[in-house]
Amino acid sequence: MELKEQINETKKRPEMGQAASPTQVHEEEPRRKIDNYQLYRAAHLPSTGRVEPFLKAFDQALNHELYRFPLRTYLETCAKCGNCILQCHLTCDDASNKSYLPPIRSDLLRKVYKKRYTLSGKLLGRLVGAEDLTEEMIDEMYESFYRCTMCRRCALECPMGVDNSLITRVGRVCLSAADMVPHNFRISVESQLHGPARNTSAIPEKAFVDTVEFLNEEMEEMTGLPIRFPINKKGAEMLYLAPVSDYIMEADTLMGCAMTFYAAGADWTIATGPASDAINYGLFYDDRRLQQILEQLYEAVKALEVKRLVMGECGHATKTQKIFSEYFGGKLPFEITTMFDVTAEYIRTGKIRLDPGRNTELVTLHDPCNLSRMGGISETLRFVLKSAVSNFVEMEPHGEENFCCGGGGGTVGFEEIYDFRMEVAGRKKAEQLRQTGARIVAAPCANCKKQLRELIDYHKLEMEVLGIHDLVAKALVLGSQDEEGPSKRVSS
Ligand code: SF4
Ligand code: SF4
Repeated sequence: MELKEQINETKKRPEMGQAASPTQVHEEEPRRKIDNYQLYRAAHLPSTGRVEPFLKAFDQALNHELYRFPLRTYLETCAKCGNCILQCHLTCDDASNKSYLPPIRSDLLRKVYKKRYTLSGKLLGRLVGAEDLTEEMIDEMYESFYRCTMCRRCALECPMGVDNSLITRVGRVCLSAADMVPHNFRISVESQLHGPARNTSAIPEKAFVDTVEFLNEEMEEMTGLPIRFPINKKGAEMLYLAPVSDYIMEADTLMGCAMTFYAAGADWTIATGPASDAINYGLFYDDRRLQQILEQLYEAVKALEVKRLVMGECGHATKTQKIFSEYFGGKLPFEITTMFDVTAEYIRTGKIRLDPGRNTELVTLHDPCNLSRMGGISETLRFVLKSAVSNFVEMEPHGEENFCCGGGGGTVGFEEIYDFRMEVAGRKKAEQLRQTGARIVAAPCANCKKQLRELIDYHKLEMEVLGIHDLVAKALVLGSQDEEGPSKRVSS
């Protein structure tokens, strides 16, 4: 299917309350069993020769300047109090599956640490919970570390300050060294680093440009204004960087951002090639890949000579830039910010005007973990959203304490654990959504949007998922002639 057709398909979203997702197969087919080793079997991974490379990577992580201190502390410190079990969306309502419990998961790596690095572990072995790494333990780790969504909610309440998500991440890094990498990560990163189009979805440059031209036509049709996505404009003040999947799945979010820039009279551009895609799956499993993707991106951004890199609606991509840009990119000749900060600045300075009366349905906000808990911009998200809608309700809990959508840490891309994502990882989020009574959930992250749409279908919720800038676009007042309101201006 052509990209333009795919966009049209995704724009034909189901009416609220109607089930329309192709993933909603649970009524027609017998329920698939949630078992262990779904991920392992689906991935066709090696089964031998993994212990040595795993341990080598573990040794490196334990001596790495970024991880050395926290990792050793977290591996040596766990009181087994169980507070984290009550905070984790996988286990807070049902702790019966031991393999989902955060301290049990972290113990998989902790056992190896104790045996290899502590005197008591070397002398007393299993008596003190120390074990030599085996091939079977590697299989178990693969299943377990790819169930944790690395959301860091458990770290909020740990009396010992343990961050189980760091242990998960280092576990995934060691698994990667042993060639244990989920298939979708492997092919996406290969396409981004070595494919002809240099993006995770392998969208050829011509198709990308055709898509952008199609969006230009859509915006002109909606608004009557010549709103355009500038492409590869050298020396522009800002480069807008969205996940490339948005060009297939989230046309309304992209157009909302373009319309915001237009209304503010901004000097901006998007790019083809490596700077067309914000995604960095290296964050989830491999520092070397993470660094290579960042270096490739920064080379392209520098060539465009922009002053600011503006991250689109994407949690993990934003976290990657906020946390790792300086470490892996060095001193960069451009500032890194987010579209939410830019839009907030436009609202505060009066560069754009929003009419919240154009979005009257009850809206709630899903806080992506990477933006609110780890990115510190939950208030900015709220400021922008509340400026664009007239009827807002908070999810409980929210902000830094919000629950993960259930598809974080890259797991949203694992179709083999769809039922796990719906019934275990997403259970708490579905309950939160239902309790708001909202008709719209704003989710400012591409991964969260996908997981939430699937949850809404699966749990039969009367809601739809939009990006924050989908709603900003509807509320934007685009000049004195713009009196017609959203129903005339913006299709949905
Ligand atoms: S809350 Fe902290 S100390 Fe308690 S079991 Fe969890 S990781 Fe261990
Ligand atoms: S990081 Fe999130 S998913 Fe992983 S154990 Fe902690 S709360 Fe659970």
